[in-house]
Order: sequence, then C-alpha cells, then structure tokens
Amino acid sequence: MGDVGLMQEIYRFHRDNCRALLPTSRRKKENFLEKVRERVDYYKPRIEERCRVSLGNVKVKDNKIWLSDHVYDRAWNQAIEVAWDEGRIPTKKDFYGSFATFSILEALMIGPIGLFNVVRGADFRQHNNIIYTPFNLANRIMDVGFEERAKRLDYGVVHELSHVLWKKILGRDEGGYFGEGRKWFEGFATYCADCHFEDFYPVGTKKMTDLLKVYSDGKKRIGGRLQNMVRKFF
Ligand SMILES: [Zn+2]
Repeated sequence: MGDVGLMQEIYRFHRDNCRALLPTSRRKKENFLEKVRERVDYYKPRIEERCRVSLGNVKVKDNKIWLSDHVYDRAWNQAIEVAWDEGRIPTKKDFYGSFATFSILEALMIGPIGLFNVVRGADFRQHNNIIYTPFNLANRIMDVGFEERAKRLDYGVVHELSHVLWKKILGRDEGGYFGEGRKWFEGFATYCADCHFEDFYPVGTKKMTDLLKVYSDGKKRIGGRLQNMVRKFF
C-alpha cells in the first residue's frame, strides 16, 4: 500500500471510529446555529412580553469569535475611558494604544481559554447580547451529531436569554465569572429557566438537572428574593 492509500486508510478509520476528533463541518455548524436562532425568535418575544422589557437584538454566533469580540469590546471602551478621564475626546492614538495592549492580552489568553473551552464543553456562553455556541472537542465527544445537545436547546436558550434579561434589569453587564457575582448571575438564569419561564416550554421539554453547585445554590438564593428584587419587571 502506498502513502496515499495509507492516508486514506487512516482517514477512513478516523471517520468511522473517531468522528468526534474531526472538526465539525461548516454546514453542520450553520444548521445548529440556525436551530439556536429559531429558539431565540420563539422565546425572546415571550420573555419580553412577560417582563415588559425589550431585550434588544440578540445574535447567535460560533464561539470561535467570542474572545476577540470580548477583548476588542473592552479595548474600545478602555480607550474612551482613558481619554475621558483626562478630560479630552479620544483620538486614533488612544484606540491604537488600547488595541495593541489588548491584542497581546488576547494572544496570552487564547491558550488557557481555548483549553478551558475544550475541557468544559459548555453548550453556550453569553456576552453583550450575543449567544456564543461552541463546537469544541468536548461538545463532540459522546454527542457527535449534537442529538443530546439539541434536546437541551430550549432550556439552554431560555437560560442565556435570562442572562440578557439580567443585564437589562441591572442596566449593566454584570461580570458573572467568579465568586459571589457568578452565583447571582447564574442563579438568576437558572431560576428563570427552571421556574419563571417554565410555562413557555413545549410539552416534554427536557430541563438540565446535573447542574454545577454554583447554579443550584444561586437558584435557591434568587428564588425567595426575585419578586422584591425585580418587582418592576415581574
Ligand atoms: Zn449561564
């Protein structure tokens, strides 16, 4: 067997036995993203009507671009803030300076964050009204065709839209990545997806039950307080 034949053999072996190790095709990703968008179009108006608040334009993107969107967004804001603090209008130089710093930061972060995503295999992540959908190795292992993930789609989309709602209610994008802040942030979305918007789900919708402790603890914390906290909206 020549080299080409050997390569074909290896490829066939991978295709048949290790499908999870091969990257997800663009078409398959787009199909899945379309499904997520459909669910957003279904739940967003219902949540808005119930809470009498506009969630704005909610986009759905491949997670690959999450980091640069996030980093450049912060660089942009920082450039404005720095100039503002100095009592002047920001110039091109401010933006160039800020973007240069944040590009280095992005390069440093792409390692650990990429790794974190691969290991964690989260279904979604939300930032700035964008629902990022990852297609990492961890998402493919045991669920190559995303069949399991599709079953959790409704629950996941309502959870992410609840993060958008939280931001609208607070009036700012409250960091929710660490410690107590994360408990409030995830607790609110978990409470909403489990209880407050429960009647929006079509019959038979699967909820996620094997949640991390920070989600279930946060949910308990939110539960009793929700009416007082956000009386205006609920
Ligand atoms: Zn969340």
